[in-house]
Amino acid sequence: MNVRTRFAPSPTGPLHMGNARTALFNYLFAKKEGGVFVLRIEDTDKERSSPEWEKDLLENLHWLGLEWDEGEGKEGPYNPYRQSERTEIYKEYLQQLLEQGKAYYCFCSAEDLEAQRQDQLSRGVAPKYKGTCRELSKEEQEKQLQSGKSAIIRLLVPEKTITFKDLIRGEIRFDMGLVGDMVLAKDLETPLYNFTVVIDDYLMKITHVIRGEDHISNTPKQMVLEEALGFPHTIQYAHLPLILGEDRTKLSKRHGDNSVTRFRKEGYLPEAVVNFLALLGWNPGDEREIFSLENLVKEFSMEKVQKSGAVFNMQRLDWINGSYIRQKSPKNLAELAAPYLPGVSIDAIEKVIVLYKERLRKLSEIGELADFFFKEKLEYPKELLKWKQYSDKDIEKALQTVEQILSLIPEADWTKEVLGEILLKEAEKIGDRGYLLWPMRVALTGKQASPGPFEVAEVLGKEKALARIKSAISMVRSNT
Ligand code: GLU
Repeated sequence: MNVRTRFAPSPTGPLHMGNARTALFNYLFAKKEGGVFVLRIEDTDKERSSPEWEKDLLENLHWLGLEWDEGEGKEGPYNPYRQSERTEIYKEYLQQLLEQGKAYYCFCSAEDLEAQRQDQLSRGVAPKYKGTCRELSKEEQEKQLQSGKSAIIRLLVPEKTITFKDLIRGEIRFDMGLVGDMVLAKDLETPLYNFTVVIDDYLMKITHVIRGEDHISNTPKQMVLEEALGFPHTIQYAHLPLILGEDRTKLSKRHGDNSVTRFRKEGYLPEAVVNFLALLGWNPGDEREIFSLENLVKEFSMEKVQKSGAVFNMQRLDWINGSYIRQKSPKNLAELAAPYLPGVSIDAIEKVIVLYKERLRKLSEIGELADFFFKEKLEYPKELLKWKQYSDKDIEKALQTVEQILSLIPEADWTKEVLGEILLKEAEKIGDRGYLLWPMRVALTGKQASPGPFEVAEVLGKEKALARIKSAISMVRSNT
């Protein structure tokens, strides 16, 4: 079989992690089977779709490395891949259904439909269109249309059971008697989602529809429509498990901003995001957790996708991201971290980032952690220099000792090893390492926590390090 999957986003908002997971699973399945991955833009909702969101979608898919074989921006045998450019195609099929009496115009007003719904709800029955306009003859429909009455187009839905075999959940049955005659289009030029999707999946020869569980109730509707259109039931369905927040409710905006752009801006690496998304519902069946996109293609199988909800665990994402960060070369990492330290050269960032590589969870952290390296003047409270019960005078003395020792070390020997050896020897003599090293480290960094004083001093260089010690000395001396 020539496997063909599709990712069919509606550009009505940013690409969020849930949709990115859908795109990824479609990509993985297609690639694993040597098939084709199609990107279709479902922009029939003209009011809510926007070019801005479409740009966000495309950019983030590229960033994740989920390149499509056919679709927006690429030629393909089933052009166009944007629904707003396919109106004429949909219209023909709508007309066909109307002519065959499989669809009909419904003239019920929105108020009548709402009243019907409320009445059904108050009686405790599932809301469903009663089929008032079903009985209208073609001539009557025509007459009402001519008179300018507004109408929508509905499908005549038979009262039967629809069964399909979901690749993840097994057999699923739906009683179509509960659904009622669904709306296909607002008019001939304005078809709705359930209709366009069926036409496009058929014409684009899609073999597998892989999408979120929230679409499961659309599947029988789409299958009934296939029957009405005379399309064979060849599509196989796989409904991916819901993504849950840490509180085990469906992941939504309430849990925070879940757009891919947010994670990108915070300095998560695309390979980490892909790896994390793959584990939202899939696992290799063993303990392994780190997978490149290439390896995922090799390992992926639909049988290993779970039915139950998958929890979006930020700690796991941080952990995965950290592990990709540690795999990068310092140079590469410096380039990736550059946006978080504006105005600082890549060479300078490279020297600094090695000090943090082991504990960074995301690249944006480097901005806050290491900004002190690049500042002209450090701002910090004088009290931070204090070690234990020592007085200002003692701290001043400690800093002076450090200054004297440092000024004697030639630039050529200015390495963390040499600095460490000499300063530690001195600290041993005094019998309290912190007495010398705490104020020294604070003087160099202005921070409560940072890498050790020798590492920092090495990266700063002799001149800058000494200048910072001196300014700390004048700070303790002053009475403010
Ligand atoms: N445009 C639909 C969505 O974004 C696609 C659903 C489907 O895959 O059929 O939810």
